[in-house]
Amino acid sequence: MTGLPTTDAPANQIEGTNMTTNTPHHPIAIIGAGLGGLTMAAVLHANGITAPLFELEAGRNVRTQGGMLDIHDDTGQKALQAAGLFDQFTKLVHVGGESQRVLDHHGTVLFENKEVDGFTRPEIDRGHLRDLLLDALPDGAVHWGCRVIAVRPLEEPVGRHEVTLANGQSFTTDLLVGADGAWSKVRALVSDALPAYTGISFIEGDLEEADERHPDQAVVMGPGMLFALGGGAGIIGHRETDGSLHFYLGHHAEEGWIDSVDFTDTEAGKAAALGVLDGWAPELRGLVANADAALTPRRIHALPPIHTWDRTPGVTLLGDAAHLMSPFAGEGANLAMYDGYQLAFAIAANPGDTEKAVAEYEAELFPRAQVSATDSADSLVTLFSDGAAQTLATTFDGYYRQR
Ligand SMILES: Cc1cc2nc3c(=O)[nH]c(=O)nc-3n(C[C@H](O)[C@H](O)[C@H](O)COP(=O)(O)OP(=O)(O)OC[C@H]3O[C@@H](n4cnc5c(N)ncnc54)[C@H](O)[C@@H]3O)c2cc1C
Repeated sequence: MTGLPTTDAPANQIEGTNMTTNTPHHPIAIIGAGLGGLTMAAVLHANGITAPLFELEAGRNVRTQGGMLDIHDDTGQKALQAAGLFDQFTKLVHVGGESQRVLDHHGTVLFENKEVDGFTRPEIDRGHLRDLLLDALPDGAVHWGCRVIAVRPLEEPVGRHEVTLANGQSFTTDLLVGADGAWSKVRALVSDALPAYTGISFIEGDLEEADERHPDQAVVMGPGMLFALGGGAGIIGHRETDGSLHFYLGHHAEEGWIDSVDFTDTEAGKAAALGVLDGWAPELRGLVANADAALTPRRIHALPPIHTWDRTPGVTLLGDAAHLMSPFAGEGANLAMYDGYQLAFAIAANPGDTEKAVAEYEAELFPRAQVSATDSADSLVTLFSDGAAQTLATTFDGYYRQR
């Protein structure tokens, strides 16, 4: 699928009310206003098609969107082009943020590239990217504070679903799009698969005003991205556009390990994290020791790398709902955006025939997701194995020599 069609909106794009039940009806309804759902809505909007999003969060600013994302030229950037947002995106990227350094846990630099072309995988604040997509949508497109608690197929017409919200409201739709992330409610309509714990737990932290307040950590992080790996653990971090440092400390842990530590107690959380970094260089341990607030723990889950389902009329999935994977291939957000673009594209290209559109979309979704999910699972093993730092340094070195 390449390029975008120049069709008028399909004839069935009419919002309304079900005459017999008085329930609101939406031809297309997107559950979840994450990067995938928002991209789908933005590309549909660019093609003259309106689709409401139903999002459990109460508003766009209720939660800080932490971390940086590198947006790939073959997926995320294509989606932004299709939404007509690429030029605005280029003004938001973190210049220099693409540079990478790989260190072992003693602090020895094994790979470093300061000179990068800046547009193969430019970095952007997750929050800036989300705002870009939200601002592209018409007022009222996102229905905030709408947690979906139940979805069910209606007997007729075939493919129509009823969606129930926690606030007691409900609506029907002819195309229910599950863009509702890892713990998707919509997924159960097409698949029994559930995310499983990967065996890796993350501890996340931030250091504000790093150059002034934490110069040793600012130096060890470098201008872009840091991978410090060793002894079955790893720190993956970024310098952010506001001069802060954000890091994820990942390590092998029992599923219950996070519950054994009181991470709301800043000192207890730091002590547990520093325990993971026994024998590490002081400047790397300093990322944890000097973090500015309580650390945030997170278990990393994934769906099976091969996750497909039989075509089910009137419903489909995108993004993490379809193919949750560990973050070690850096693909999840990019794929969610690309899925959203591809589904919107297919709908615009098949006016009046969403079933054909969804079948085309899913035929390309499954193999695409499988490749990335397999890469991601392989990377998880590599990054937390003996000799991980040297392996990654050699991989990066080979990659940049070829370009
Ligand atoms: C630590 C970490 C680092 C990562 N780093 C990268 C990276 O560098 N690059 C990259 O490409 N990817 C990265 N990822 C993966 C990426 O964050 C996800 O793949 C991406 O956010 C998925 O987007 P999505 O829209 O599918 O889902 P989400 O972003 O999870 O959005 C789903 C939305 O649905 C809403 N929702 C959920 N349930 C309901 C409900 N019942 N009713 C209504 N709304 C609901 C949620 O509130 C949310 O807004 C990382 C992930 C993690 C955990």
